[in-house]
Amino acid sequence: KKTLRLILGDQLNSNHSWFKTADDAITYVLMEIRSETDYAQHHIQKIVGFFASMQNFASELQSNNHNVIYVYLNDPTNLQSFDKNILALIEKHHFNNFEFQKPDEYRLDELLKNFSKKIAIPSTIADSEHFFSTRVELSTFFERKKTFLMESFYHYMRKKHHILMEGDKPISGKWNFDGDNRKKLPKNHKPTTPLVFNNNVVEIVDEINQTNIKTIGNIDAKNFVWPINREQSLQLLDFFAIECLPLFGSYQDAMSPNEWSLYHARLSFSMNIKMISPQEVIERCIEEWHKRPTEIEYHQLEGFVRQIIGWREYMRGIYWNKMPEYASMNYFDHEAKLPDWYWTGKTKMNCLRDAIQQSLDYSYAHHIQRLMITGNFALLAGIHPDEVDRWYLGIYIDAIQWVEITNTRGMSQFADGGIVGTKPYVSSANYIDKMSHYCGSCFYKKALKTGDKACPFNSLYWNFYDKNEGKLGKNPRIGMMYNLWRKMKVETKSEILEQADYYLKNINEL
Ligand code: FAD
Ligand code: SF4
Repeated sequence: KKTLRLILGDQLNSNHSWFKTADDAITYVLMEIRSETDYAQHHIQKIVGFFASMQNFASELQSNNHNVIYVYLNDPTNLQSFDKNILALIEKHHFNNFEFQKPDEYRLDELLKNFSKKIAIPSTIADSEHFFSTRVELSTFFERKKTFLMESFYHYMRKKHHILMEGDKPISGKWNFDGDNRKKLPKNHKPTTPLVFNNNVVEIVDEINQTNIKTIGNIDAKNFVWPINREQSLQLLDFFAIECLPLFGSYQDAMSPNEWSLYHARLSFSMNIKMISPQEVIERCIEEWHKRPTEIEYHQLEGFVRQIIGWREYMRGIYWNKMPEYASMNYFDHEAKLPDWYWTGKTKMNCLRDAIQQSLDYSYAHHIQRLMITGNFALLAGIHPDEVDRWYLGIYIDAIQWVEITNTRGMSQFADGGIVGTKPYVSSANYIDKMSHYCGSCFYKKALKTGDKACPFNSLYWNFYDKNEGKLGKNPRIGMMYNLWRKMKVETKSEILEQADYYLKNINEL
Protein backbone atom coordinates (compact mmCIF):
# COMPACT_ATOMS: atom_id res chain seq x y z
CA LYS A 1 0.00 0.00 0.00
CA LYS A 2 1.26 3.45 -0.93
CA THR A 3 -0.51 6.19 1.00
CA LEU A 4 -0.80 9.93 0.46
CA ARG A 5 -1.82 11.90 3.55
CA LEU A 6 -3.01 15.50 3.20
CA ILE A 7 -2.18 18.01 5.94
CA LEU A 8 -4.18 21.23 5.80
CA GLY A 9 -2.63 24.55 6.83
CA ASP A 10 -4.54 24.52 10.12
CA GLN A 11 -3.61 20.92 10.98
CA LEU A 12 -0.05 21.40 12.19
CA ASN A 13 -0.41 19.04 15.15
CA SER A 14 2.96 17.40 15.92
CA ASN A 15 1.33 15.18 18.54
CA HIS A 16 -1.14 13.62 16.11
CA SER A 17 -1.07 9.82 16.10
CA TRP A 18 -0.24 9.94 12.36
CA PHE A 19 3.29 11.03 13.21
CA LYS A 20 4.13 8.52 15.96
CA THR A 21 6.29 6.39 13.69
CA ALA A 22 7.87 7.12 10.33
CA ASP A 23 6.67 4.76 7.60
CA ASP A 24 8.22 4.66 4.16
CA ALA A 25 4.92 3.69 2.58
CA ILE A 26 3.36 6.98 3.70
CA THR A 27 3.94 10.42 2.16
CA TYR A 28 2.59 13.66 3.61
CA VAL A 29 1.64 16.61 1.48
CA LEU A 30 1.24 20.27 2.45
CA MET A 31 0.38 22.90 -0.14
CA GLU A 32 0.34 26.67 -0.50
CA ILE A 33 -2.49 27.27 -2.94
CA ARG A 34 -4.52 30.10 -4.43
CA SER A 35 -7.88 28.62 -3.43
CA GLU A 36 -6.81 29.27 0.18
CA THR A 37 -5.08 32.62 -0.29
CA ASP A 38 -8.03 33.96 -2.28
CA TYR A 39 -11.26 32.74 -0.58
CA ALA A 40 -11.13 36.03 1.35
CA GLN A 41 -8.87 39.04 1.12
CA HIS A 42 -6.52 38.12 3.94
CA HIS A 43 -4.15 40.21 6.01
CA ILE A 44 -0.59 39.76 4.74
CA GLN A 45 0.43 38.56 8.22
CA LYS A 46 -2.23 35.87 8.12
CA ILE A 47 -0.95 34.34 4.88
CA VAL A 48 2.65 34.66 6.04
CA GLY A 49 1.81 33.13 9.43
CA PHE A 50 0.21 30.11 7.79
CA PHE A 51 2.93 29.57 5.18
CA ALA A 52 5.82 30.04 7.62
CA SER A 53 4.25 27.61 10.10
CA MET A 54 3.51 25.08 7.35
CA GLN A 55 7.09 25.24 6.07
CA ASN A 56 8.45 24.74 9.58
CA PHE A 57 6.08 21.86 10.19
CA ALA A 58 7.16 20.16 6.95
CA SER A 59 10.83 20.50 7.98
CA GLU A 60 10.05 19.08 11.42
CA LEU A 61 8.37 16.04 9.83
CA GLN A 62 11.29 15.56 7.47
CA SER A 63 13.78 15.65 10.30
CA ASN A 64 11.72 12.91 11.97
CA ASN A 65 12.20 10.79 8.82
CA HIS A 66 8.73 11.22 7.36
CA ASN A 67 8.34 11.55 3.60
CA VAL A 68 7.01 14.99 2.79
CA ILE A 69 5.99 16.75 -0.40
CA TYR A 70 5.77 20.51 0.07
CA VAL A 71 4.10 22.44 -2.72
CA TYR A 72 5.27 26.07 -2.75
CA LEU A 73 2.99 28.83 -3.97
CA ASN A 74 5.03 29.50 -7.10
CA ASP A 75 6.02 25.92 -7.98
CA PRO A 76 5.47 25.60 -11.73
CA THR A 77 3.66 22.29 -11.13
CA ASN A 78 1.30 23.78 -8.51
CA LEU A 79 -2.26 23.55 -9.85
CA GLN A 80 -3.48 25.84 -7.03
CA SER A 81 -6.29 23.71 -5.62
CA PHE A 82 -6.40 20.69 -3.30
CA ASP A 83 -8.22 18.36 -5.66
CA LYS A 84 -6.13 19.12 -8.75
CA ASN A 85 -2.83 18.85 -6.88
CA ILE A 86 -3.82 15.61 -5.17
CA LEU A 87 -4.96 14.00 -8.42
CA ALA A 88 -1.70 14.97 -10.07
CA LEU A 89 0.31 13.51 -7.19
CA ILE A 90 -1.66 10.25 -7.17
CA GLU A 91 -0.95 9.86 -10.85
CA LYS A 92 2.69 10.82 -10.69
CA HIS A 93 3.67 8.74 -7.63
CA HIS A 94 1.15 5.90 -8.04
CA PHE A 95 -0.45 6.29 -4.61
CA ASN A 96 -3.17 3.73 -4.06
CA ASN A 97 -4.58 5.08 -0.81
CA PHE A 98 -5.58 8.62 0.30
CA GLU A 99 -6.07 9.89 3.84
CA PHE A 100 -7.01 13.24 5.34
CA GLN A 101 -8.01 14.67 8.71
CA LYS A 102 -11.47 16.08 9.34
CA PRO A 103 -11.33 19.73 8.25
CA ASP A 104 -12.63 22.39 10.63
CA GLU A 105 -14.12 24.38 7.82
CA TYR A 106 -17.43 23.44 6.18
CA ARG A 107 -16.18 24.47 2.72
CA LEU A 108 -13.20 22.13 2.87
CA ASP A 109 -15.18 19.38 4.54
CA GLU A 110 -17.59 19.32 1.61
CA LEU A 111 -14.79 19.60 -0.93
CA LEU A 112 -12.76 16.71 0.46
CA LYS A 113 -15.78 14.51 1.15
CA ASN A 114 -16.93 14.86 -2.46
CA PHE A 115 -13.43 14.54 -3.83
CA SER A 116 -12.71 11.32 -1.94
CA LYS A 117 -15.94 9.78 -3.26
CA LYS A 118 -14.93 10.59 -6.83
CA ILE A 119 -11.38 9.29 -6.89
CA ALA A 120 -10.53 5.75 -7.93
CA ILE A 121 -8.47 4.85 -4.87
CA PRO A 122 -9.82 4.23 -1.33
CA SER A 123 -9.73 7.05 1.20
CA THR A 124 -9.98 7.35 4.97
CA ILE A 125 -10.81 10.28 7.25
CA ALA A 126 -8.98 10.65 10.56
CA ASP A 127 -9.88 12.83 13.52
CA SER A 128 -7.77 15.98 13.95
CA GLU A 129 -7.15 15.02 17.62
CA HIS A 130 -7.27 18.59 18.84
CA PHE A 131 -10.57 19.56 20.44
CA PHE A 132 -12.14 18.55 23.76
CA SER A 133 -15.47 17.81 22.08
CA THR A 134 -16.51 16.14 18.85
CA ARG A 135 -18.24 18.02 16.06
CA VAL A 136 -21.67 16.77 17.13
CA GLU A 137 -21.27 16.70 20.89
CA LEU A 138 -22.94 20.07 21.40
CA SER A 139 -25.86 19.04 19.17
CA THR A 140 -26.35 15.89 21.25
CA PHE A 141 -26.05 17.83 24.50
CA PHE A 142 -28.74 20.35 23.50
CA GLU A 143 -30.96 17.88 21.67
CA ARG A 144 -34.62 18.91 21.87
CA LYS A 145 -33.70 22.13 23.68
CA LYS A 146 -34.76 25.45 22.19
CA THR A 147 -31.74 27.45 23.26
CA PHE A 148 -28.04 26.71 23.35
CA LEU A 149 -26.77 28.18 26.58
CA MET A 150 -22.97 28.42 26.60
CA GLU A 151 -22.90 28.26 30.38
CA SER A 152 -24.57 24.81 30.54
CA PHE A 153 -22.24 23.42 27.89
CA TYR A 154 -19.30 24.82 29.85
CA HIS A 155 -20.42 23.06 33.05
CA TYR A 156 -20.78 19.84 31.09
CA MET A 157 -17.24 20.19 29.67
CA ARG A 158 -15.79 20.94 33.11
CA LYS A 159 -17.45 17.82 34.55
CA LYS A 160 -16.69 15.56 31.62
CA HIS A 161 -13.00 16.44 31.51
CA HIS A 162 -12.67 16.95 35.23
CA ILE A 163 -11.23 20.45 34.94
CA LEU A 164 -11.21 22.68 38.05
CA MET A 165 -13.45 20.23 39.88
CA GLU A 166 -13.57 18.81 43.41
CA GLY A 167 -15.41 15.56 42.94
CA ASP A 168 -18.55 16.52 41.04
CA LYS A 169 -18.54 20.12 42.34
CA PRO A 170 -16.72 23.09 40.83
CA ILE A 171 -13.69 24.24 42.84
CA SER A 172 -14.83 26.87 45.38
CA GLY A 173 -18.46 25.86 44.83
CA LYS A 174 -19.08 28.40 42.04
CA TRP A 175 -18.81 27.77 38.29
CA ASN A 176 -18.31 31.25 36.96
CA PHE A 177 -16.47 34.26 38.35
CA ASP A 178 -17.25 36.75 35.60
CA GLY A 179 -18.48 39.23 38.18
CA ASP A 180 -14.90 39.63 39.51
CA ASN A 181 -13.55 40.51 36.07
CA ARG A 182 -14.42 43.45 33.81
CA LYS A 183 -12.24 46.14 35.37
CA LYS A 184 -10.98 49.28 33.66
CA LEU A 185 -7.20 49.65 33.50
CA PRO A 186 -6.09 52.10 36.23
CA LYS A 187 -4.79 55.37 34.72
CA ASN A 188 -1.10 54.88 35.48
CA HIS A 189 -1.00 51.13 35.09
CA LYS A 190 1.55 49.99 32.49
CA PRO A 191 0.66 46.50 31.25
CA THR A 192 3.34 43.85 30.69
CA THR A 193 5.22 44.35 27.42
CA PRO A 194 3.99 41.66 25.02
CA LEU A 195 6.41 38.90 24.04
CA VAL A 196 6.95 39.04 20.28
CA PHE A 197 9.13 36.96 17.96
CA ASN A 198 11.44 38.67 15.53
CA ASN A 199 11.00 36.10 12.80
CA ASN A 200 12.55 36.79 9.43
CA VAL A 201 9.90 36.04 6.81
CA VAL A 202 11.34 38.06 3.94
CA GLU A 203 11.40 35.08 1.57
CA ILE A 204 7.73 34.31 2.11
CA VAL A 205 6.72 37.93 1.64
CA ASP A 206 8.72 37.96 -1.63
CA GLU A 207 6.99 34.75 -2.70
CA ILE A 208 3.59 36.38 -2.13
CA ASN A 209 4.63 39.63 -3.80
CA GLN A 210 5.49 37.74 -6.98
CA THR A 211 1.79 36.92 -7.37
CA ASN A 212 -1.27 39.12 -7.71
CA ILE A 213 -2.74 37.96 -4.38
CA LYS A 214 -4.63 40.85 -2.80
CA THR A 215 -3.79 41.36 0.87
CA ILE A 216 -4.60 43.88 3.56
CA GLY A 217 -2.55 45.34 6.40
CA ASN A 218 1.13 45.86 7.15
CA ILE A 219 4.07 43.63 7.95
CA ASP A 220 7.63 44.04 9.17
CA ALA A 221 9.10 41.06 7.34
CA LYS A 222 12.33 41.07 9.33
CA ASN A 223 10.53 41.12 12.66
CA PHE A 224 7.38 39.09 12.24
CA VAL A 225 5.79 39.05 15.68
CA TRP A 226 3.74 35.83 15.58
CA PRO A 227 4.91 32.35 16.62
CA ILE A 228 5.58 30.18 13.57
CA ASN A 229 6.43 26.85 15.15
CA ARG A 230 5.57 24.75 18.15
CA GLU A 231 8.56 25.89 20.18
CA GLN A 232 7.61 29.56 19.87
CA SER A 233 3.98 28.74 20.59
CA LEU A 234 5.04 27.03 23.81
CA GLN A 235 7.19 30.04 24.71
CA LEU A 236 4.19 32.30 24.23
CA LEU A 237 2.12 29.98 26.41
CA ASP A 238 4.77 30.13 29.15
CA PHE A 239 4.88 33.90 28.87
CA PHE A 240 1.12 34.06 29.21
CA ALA A 241 0.98 31.74 32.22
CA ILE A 242 3.80 33.53 34.04
CA GLU A 243 3.28 37.17 33.10
CA CYS A 244 -0.33 37.64 32.03
CA LEU A 245 -2.52 35.09 33.78
CA PRO A 246 -2.29 36.87 37.18
CA LEU A 247 -4.26 39.80 35.71
CA PHE A 248 -6.02 38.14 32.78
CA GLY A 249 -9.55 38.08 34.17
CA SER A 250 -9.40 41.48 35.83
CA TYR A 251 -8.52 43.33 32.62
CA GLN A 252 -10.08 40.99 30.10
CA ASP A 253 -12.59 43.63 28.99
CA ALA A 254 -10.33 46.68 29.36
CA MET A 255 -9.10 48.77 26.44
CA SER A 256 -6.36 51.35 26.30
CA PRO A 257 -4.82 53.47 23.52
CA ASN A 258 -1.61 51.99 22.08
CA GLU A 259 -1.89 48.82 24.16
CA TRP A 260 -2.59 46.13 21.61
CA SER A 261 -2.65 43.02 23.71
CA LEU A 262 -2.80 43.91 27.45
CA TYR A 263 -3.05 40.63 29.40
CA HIS A 264 -4.48 38.57 26.53
CA ALA A 265 -2.82 35.33 25.51
CA ARG A 266 -2.52 35.83 21.73
CA LEU A 267 -2.59 32.05 21.53
CA SER A 268 -5.59 31.78 19.20
CA PHE A 269 -3.40 31.58 16.09
CA SER A 270 -1.16 28.83 17.53
CA MET A 271 -4.20 26.94 18.77
CA ASN A 272 -6.35 27.36 15.68
CA ILE A 273 -3.66 25.93 13.44
CA LYS A 274 -3.03 23.27 16.11
CA MET A 275 0.63 23.99 16.86
CA ILE A 276 -0.53 23.67 20.47
CA SER A 277 -3.63 22.05 21.91
CA PRO A 278 -6.29 23.56 24.14
CA GLN A 279 -5.53 20.83 26.63
CA GLU A 280 -1.88 21.77 27.05
CA VAL A 281 -2.81 25.45 27.25
CA ILE A 282 -5.17 24.80 30.13
CA GLU A 283 -2.84 22.38 31.88
CA ARG A 284 0.03 24.86 31.77
CA CYS A 285 -2.15 27.58 33.31
CA ILE A 286 -3.49 25.30 36.03
CA GLU A 287 0.08 24.26 36.84
CA GLU A 288 1.12 27.91 37.19
CA TRP A 289 -1.85 28.59 39.46
CA HIS A 290 -0.85 25.64 41.68
CA LYS A 291 2.70 26.99 41.86
CA ARG A 292 1.68 30.55 42.78
CA PRO A 293 -1.67 30.28 44.58
CA THR A 294 -1.35 33.61 46.35
CA GLU A 295 -0.31 35.59 43.26
CA ILE A 296 -2.83 34.07 40.87
CA GLU A 297 -6.35 34.38 42.19
CA TYR A 298 -8.72 31.62 41.18
CA HIS A 299 -11.07 33.92 39.22
CA GLN A 300 -8.26 34.86 36.81
CA LEU A 301 -7.75 31.20 35.97
CA GLU A 302 -11.43 30.29 35.78
CA GLY A 303 -12.09 33.17 33.37
CA PHE A 304 -9.39 31.92 31.05
CA VAL A 305 -10.36 28.26 31.21
CA ARG A 306 -13.94 29.25 30.38
CA GLN A 307 -12.81 30.97 27.16
CA ILE A 308 -11.15 27.81 25.98
CA ILE A 309 -13.22 24.83 27.09
CA GLY A 310 -16.37 26.95 27.16
CA TRP A 311 -16.55 29.48 24.36
CA ARG A 312 -14.11 27.91 21.92
CA GLU A 313 -15.64 24.44 22.01
CA TYR A 314 -19.16 25.88 22.12
CA MET A 315 -18.62 27.96 18.97
CA ARG A 316 -17.31 24.93 17.15
CA GLY A 317 -20.37 22.92 18.15
CA ILE A 318 -22.73 25.68 16.99
CA TYR A 319 -20.87 25.85 13.67
CA TRP A 320 -21.35 22.16 12.92
CA ASN A 321 -24.93 22.26 14.11
CA LYS A 322 -25.95 25.26 12.00
CA MET A 323 -23.85 25.24 8.84
CA PRO A 324 -24.42 25.88 6.00
CA GLU A 325 -27.58 27.93 6.83
CA TYR A 326 -25.64 29.99 9.36
CA ALA A 327 -23.57 31.68 6.67
CA SER A 328 -26.59 33.44 5.18
CA MET A 329 -28.48 34.48 8.32
CA ASN A 330 -29.38 38.16 8.49
CA TYR A 331 -31.94 38.58 11.29
CA PHE A 332 -32.20 42.37 11.00
CA ASP A 333 -32.11 42.39 7.17
CA HIS A 334 -29.14 44.71 7.31
CA GLU A 335 -27.89 45.90 3.96
CA ALA A 336 -25.35 48.69 4.33
CA LYS A 337 -21.76 48.56 3.12
CA LEU A 338 -18.87 48.63 5.56
CA PRO A 339 -17.45 52.18 5.79
CA ASP A 340 -14.23 52.62 3.77
CA TRP A 341 -12.26 53.49 6.90
CA TYR A 342 -12.55 49.90 8.18
CA TRP A 343 -9.80 49.20 5.63
CA THR A 344 -7.61 52.20 6.48
CA GLY A 345 -8.30 53.24 10.08
CA LYS A 346 -8.89 56.79 8.90
CA THR A 347 -11.72 57.95 11.15
CA LYS A 348 -12.01 60.65 13.80
CA MET A 349 -13.48 58.17 16.26
CA ASN A 350 -10.62 57.41 18.64
CA CYS A 351 -11.78 53.98 19.74
CA LEU A 352 -12.39 52.75 16.20
CA ARG A 353 -9.23 54.28 14.81
CA ASP A 354 -7.11 52.53 17.42
CA ALA A 355 -8.83 49.14 17.06
CA ILE A 356 -8.61 49.24 13.26
CA GLN A 357 -5.07 50.60 13.10
CA GLN A 358 -3.78 47.91 15.42
CA SER A 359 -5.63 45.27 13.41
CA LEU A 360 -3.85 46.53 10.28
CA ASP A 361 -0.49 46.58 12.10
CA TYR A 362 -0.72 43.29 14.00
CA SER A 363 -3.55 41.30 12.38
CA TYR A 364 -4.91 41.17 15.93
CA ALA A 365 -7.39 42.88 18.21
CA HIS A 366 -8.56 41.47 21.49
CA HIS A 367 -12.06 40.28 22.16
CA ILE A 368 -13.60 43.48 23.49
CA GLN A 369 -12.19 45.54 20.64
CA ARG A 370 -13.71 43.07 18.17
CA LEU A 371 -17.03 42.86 20.00
CA MET A 372 -17.65 46.29 21.51
CA ILE A 373 -15.78 48.59 19.10
CA THR A 374 -15.69 47.33 15.51
CA GLY A 375 -18.53 44.81 15.91
CA ASN A 376 -20.73 47.16 17.93
CA PHE A 377 -20.36 49.95 15.37
CA ALA A 378 -21.07 47.64 12.41
CA LEU A 379 -24.26 46.39 14.06
CA LEU A 380 -25.46 49.88 15.01
CA ALA A 381 -24.75 51.09 11.48
CA GLY A 382 -26.79 48.27 9.94
CA ILE A 383 -23.96 46.72 7.92
CA HIS A 384 -24.76 43.57 5.95
CA PRO A 385 -23.38 40.55 7.89
CA ASP A 386 -21.64 39.31 4.70
CA GLU A 387 -19.61 42.51 4.68
CA VAL A 388 -18.81 42.21 8.36
CA ASP A 389 -17.79 38.55 8.01
CA ARG A 390 -15.61 39.33 5.03
CA TRP A 391 -13.70 41.90 7.07
CA TYR A 392 -13.21 39.74 10.16
CA LEU A 393 -12.32 36.65 8.13
CA GLY A 394 -9.66 38.59 6.29
CA ILE A 395 -8.08 40.80 8.87
CA TYR A 396 -7.34 38.54 11.83
CA ILE A 397 -4.51 36.04 11.92
CA ASP A 398 -6.68 33.62 13.91
CA ALA A 399 -9.67 33.87 11.57
CA ILE A 400 -10.85 30.48 10.38
CA GLN A 401 -14.49 30.30 9.47
CA TRP A 402 -15.71 27.97 12.26
CA VAL A 403 -14.64 30.42 14.95
CA GLU A 404 -14.90 33.64 12.94
CA ILE A 405 -18.46 33.34 11.67
CA THR A 406 -19.98 32.14 14.93
CA ASN A 407 -18.39 35.07 16.73
CA THR A 408 -19.09 37.65 14.03
CA ARG A 409 -22.47 36.77 12.60
CA GLY A 410 -23.59 35.21 15.86
CA MET A 411 -22.19 36.82 18.97
CA SER A 412 -21.37 40.20 17.52
CA GLN A 413 -24.01 40.91 14.84
CA PHE A 414 -26.94 38.90 16.31
CA ALA A 415 -27.64 37.94 12.70
CA ASP A 416 -28.58 34.44 13.91
CA GLY A 417 -31.49 35.96 15.84
CA GLY A 418 -30.18 34.76 19.20
CA ILE A 419 -28.64 31.31 18.80
CA VAL A 420 -25.31 32.30 20.31
CA GLY A 421 -26.29 35.37 22.35
CA THR A 422 -29.40 36.23 24.30
CA LYS A 423 -29.33 39.88 23.23
CA PRO A 424 -27.35 42.02 20.79
CA TYR A 425 -24.02 43.36 22.07
CA VAL A 426 -24.53 47.05 21.44
CA SER A 427 -23.59 50.06 23.49
CA SER A 428 -23.43 53.81 23.44
CA ALA A 429 -20.28 55.77 24.36
CA ASN A 430 -21.07 55.13 28.01
CA TYR A 431 -19.80 51.55 28.03
CA ILE A 432 -16.76 52.35 25.88
CA ASP A 433 -15.80 55.16 28.23
CA LYS A 434 -16.32 52.90 31.25
CA MET A 435 -13.90 50.28 29.88
CA SER A 436 -11.28 52.43 28.13
CA HIS A 437 -9.28 55.64 28.01
CA TYR A 438 -10.38 56.63 24.52
CA CYS A 439 -13.12 59.19 24.96
CA GLY A 440 -11.19 61.90 26.79
CA SER A 441 -9.03 62.74 23.77
CA CYS A 442 -11.57 61.99 21.03
CA PHE A 443 -12.78 64.51 18.45
CA TYR A 444 -16.31 63.50 19.44
CA LYS A 445 -17.90 64.16 22.80
CA LYS A 446 -19.02 61.09 24.66
CA ALA A 447 -21.83 62.86 26.55
CA LEU A 448 -23.51 64.40 23.47
CA LYS A 449 -26.25 62.67 21.52
CA THR A 450 -26.82 65.38 18.94
CA GLY A 451 -24.79 68.10 17.25
CA ASP A 452 -21.54 68.21 15.22
CA LYS A 453 -19.42 66.74 17.97
CA ALA A 454 -21.87 64.15 19.27
CA CYS A 455 -20.36 60.70 19.63
CA PRO A 456 -21.87 58.64 16.77
CA PHE A 457 -22.33 55.63 19.06
CA ASN A 458 -24.98 57.54 21.03
CA SER A 459 -27.51 58.37 18.33
CA LEU A 460 -26.86 55.15 16.43
CA TYR A 461 -27.54 53.20 19.60
CA TRP A 462 -31.03 54.59 20.07
CA ASN A 463 -31.69 54.46 16.36
CA PHE A 464 -30.86 50.74 16.37
CA TYR A 465 -33.35 50.05 19.16
CA ASP A 466 -35.99 52.23 17.57
CA LYS A 467 -35.69 50.59 14.15
CA ASN A 468 -35.70 47.08 15.57
CA GLU A 469 -38.43 47.39 18.17
CA GLY A 470 -40.50 44.78 16.37
CA LYS A 471 -37.72 42.23 16.72
CA LEU A 472 -36.31 43.21 20.11
CA GLY A 473 -39.11 44.96 21.99
CA LYS A 474 -40.24 41.81 23.77
CA ASN A 475 -36.76 40.65 24.78
CA PRO A 476 -36.83 40.79 28.59
CA ARG A 477 -33.12 41.57 28.73
CA ILE A 478 -33.65 44.81 26.81
CA GLY A 479 -36.93 45.93 28.38
CA MET A 480 -35.28 48.58 30.49
CA MET A 481 -33.74 50.31 27.47
CA TYR A 482 -37.08 50.39 25.67
CA ASN A 483 -38.68 51.92 28.77
CA LEU A 484 -36.06 54.66 28.76
CA TRP A 485 -36.56 55.28 25.05
CA ARG A 486 -40.32 55.42 25.34
CA LYS A 487 -40.08 57.91 28.20
CA MET A 488 -37.96 60.39 26.22
CA LYS A 489 -39.67 63.51 24.86
CA VAL A 490 -40.91 63.20 21.29
CA GLU A 491 -38.68 66.11 20.14
CA THR A 492 -35.61 64.59 21.80
CA LYS A 493 -36.27 61.29 20.11
CA SER A 494 -36.69 62.80 16.70
CA GLU A 495 -33.50 64.88 17.09
CA ILE A 496 -31.58 61.72 17.99
CA LEU A 497 -33.02 59.84 15.02
CA GLU A 498 -32.20 62.73 12.70
CA GLN A 499 -28.64 62.79 13.99
CA ALA A 500 -28.33 59.04 13.41
CA ASP A 501 -29.73 59.43 9.94
CA TYR A 502 -27.21 62.15 9.16
CA TYR A 503 -24.31 60.01 10.40
CA LEU A 504 -25.48 56.98 8.44
CA LYS A 505 -25.73 59.03 5.25
CA ASN A 506 -22.23 60.41 5.80
CA ILE A 507 -20.69 57.31 7.26
CA ASN A 508 -17.46 57.53 5.28
CA GLU A 509 -16.80 60.97 6.74
CA LEU A 510 -16.93 59.95 10.39
P1 FAD B 1 -7.65 35.63 25.00
O1 FAD B 1 -8.53 36.76 25.34
O2 FAD B 1 -6.36 35.55 25.69
O3 FAD B 1 -8.50 34.28 25.25
C1 FAD B 1 -7.88 33.02 25.32
C2 FAD B 1 -8.41 32.07 24.29
O4 FAD B 1 -9.78 31.79 24.50
C3 FAD B 1 -8.30 32.52 22.86
O5 FAD B 1 -7.03 32.24 22.33
C4 FAD B 1 -9.39 31.71 22.18
O6 FAD B 1 -8.89 30.49 21.74
C5 FAD B 1 -10.41 31.48 23.28
N1 FAD B 1 -11.57 32.35 23.10
C6 FAD B 1 -11.85 33.48 23.79
N2 FAD B 1 -13.04 33.98 23.40
C7 FAD B 1 -13.49 33.17 22.42
C8 FAD B 1 -14.66 33.16 21.63
N3 FAD B 1 -15.59 34.10 21.74
N4 FAD B 1 -14.77 32.19 20.72
C9 FAD B 1 -13.84 31.23 20.58
N5 FAD B 1 -12.72 31.19 21.31
C10 FAD B 1 -12.56 32.14 22.23
N6 FAD B 1 -11.47 33.96 17.67
C11 FAD B 1 -10.75 33.24 16.81
O7 FAD B 1 -9.98 32.36 17.22
N7 FAD B 1 -10.84 33.44 15.45
C12 FAD B 1 -11.67 34.39 14.94
O8 FAD B 1 -11.73 34.56 13.73
C13 FAD B 1 -12.43 35.19 15.84
N8 FAD B 1 -13.24 36.16 15.36
C14 FAD B 1 -13.94 36.93 16.23
C15 FAD B 1 -14.80 37.92 15.72
C16 FAD B 1 -15.55 38.70 16.58
C17 FAD B 1 -16.49 39.74 16.02
C18 FAD B 1 -15.45 38.49 17.98
C19 FAD B 1 -16.27 39.31 18.92
C20 FAD B 1 -14.61 37.52 18.48
C21 FAD B 1 -13.86 36.72 17.63
N9 FAD B 1 -13.01 35.70 18.13
C22 FAD B 1 -12.30 34.94 17.23
C23 FAD B 1 -12.96 35.36 19.56
C24 FAD B 1 -11.87 36.10 20.37
O9 FAD B 1 -12.01 37.48 20.19
C25 FAD B 1 -10.46 35.64 19.99
O10 FAD B 1 -10.37 34.25 20.13
C26 FAD B 1 -9.41 36.27 20.87
O11 FAD B 1 -9.47 37.67 20.80
C27 FAD B 1 -8.03 35.76 20.48
O12 FAD B 1 -7.03 36.42 21.17
P2 FAD B 1 -6.28 35.80 22.43
O13 FAD B 1 -5.67 34.49 22.09
O14 FAD B 1 -5.37 36.86 22.93
O15 FAD B 1 -7.49 35.57 23.42
FE1 SF4 C 1 -15.37 56.23 20.65
FE2 SF4 C 1 -17.37 58.00 21.00
FE3 SF4 C 1 -15.55 57.67 22.90
FE4 SF4 C 1 -14.89 58.86 20.61
S1 SF4 C 1 -16.35 59.59 22.15
S2 SF4 C 1 -13.71 57.31 21.68
S3 SF4 C 1 -16.14 57.71 19.16
S4 SF4 C 1 -17.02 56.14 22.19
